[in-house]
Amino acid sequence: MLKIIHDPESAISGTSVESFLHRLAVPTAIFVEGHDRTRTRAVCTLLHGNEPSGIHAIHQYLSAGVKPAVNALFIIGSVQAALTKPLFSHRTLPGKRDLNRCFKPPFENGQGETAGAILQLIHSVNPEALIDLHNTSGSGPAFGVSINGDTDHLALTSLFTNDLIVTDLRLGAIMEISERDVPTVTIECGGATDTSAKFVAQEGISRYLSAETIGAEPRVDYRVNIFRNPIRLELKKGFSAAYSDEPQKHADITLPESAERFNYGMVPHEEALGFLSDKGLSVLTAKDHSGVERLDDFFECREGRLYSRHPIKLFMVTTNADIAASDCLFYFIGRSA
Ligand SMILES: [Zn+2]
Repeated sequence: MLKIIHDPESAISGTSVESFLHRLAVPTAIFVEGHDRTRTRAVCTLLHGNEPSGIHAIHQYLSAGVKPAVNALFIIGSVQAALTKPLFSHRTLPGKRDLNRCFKPPFENGQGETAGAILQLIHSVNPEALIDLHNTSGSGPAFGVSINGDTDHLALTSLFTNDLIVTDLRLGAIMEISERDVPTVTIECGGATDTSAKFVAQEGISRYLSAETIGAEPRVDYRVNIFRNPIRLELKKGFSAAYSDEPQKHADITLPESAERFNYGMVPHEEALGFLSDKGLSVLTAKDHSGVERLDDFFECREGRLYSRHPIKLFMVTTNADIAASDCLFYFIGRSA
């Protein structure tokens, strides 16, 4: 359930990313020997099959034949989901669990067993750190996500981006192994089709694997902004979103076609976020990490439009109506959070 490769050249030589994935065929771990063979750093990617920036960066790194400063361990997760046609269009295999929600017991069924095998391998290798590369579902700048905001995690984040979300939410994501002994940061490189996302992944991987040390050094300011505990604005089950600049009758909320422009900016409370139906705010929910409903603390409905009560910062804004209904509309933090 987890293939191990010690000789990446045979898997990579002369291949495109797609044929490289065909050669792997299943979840795979690839070891590359470094100059210092006593230490290892791990990189994980493709836990979500429709988030290709990380695998592009790893393919490029392996193709270049660079020898890393220390041993490198690359873990490539949902290879079958990524290969399901059309390429890089499936987050998970149809009908299967989200692999990045399976890194907690019980490690059962296909996805759970894969997650368990990945964790076992990471603990046996005991890397200095783990970077998990993803793409956001909408377009936007890169940011890190971690469950720990200490200086080691800031130093790791700074190799890729200057913004870090620190969350107390536990979903069974791989970054939760920071709770044990491996500093781990998830890097959301930006949207899957953003050119900048590819560079964030490539340049970050190169810095991460070439640095002599990656732990925090005393008295260094890593200039990473920390945002704690963002909240997800979700549609309640059975309600739907549409994306248009005019209110859509069939939808319970209509967000602008260009909603991705909200990504990452501060949205003032005078700016409408979208149109609501006559059901108003009742179709929405925004629970914080403790499970407390915060919708009315942050949002209001005025004349059929959705406004925030105070300036808020939005992340991971989607313009995909299916993701809006099944996952969330966006993440936000209030100014005072
Ligand atoms: Zn992802």
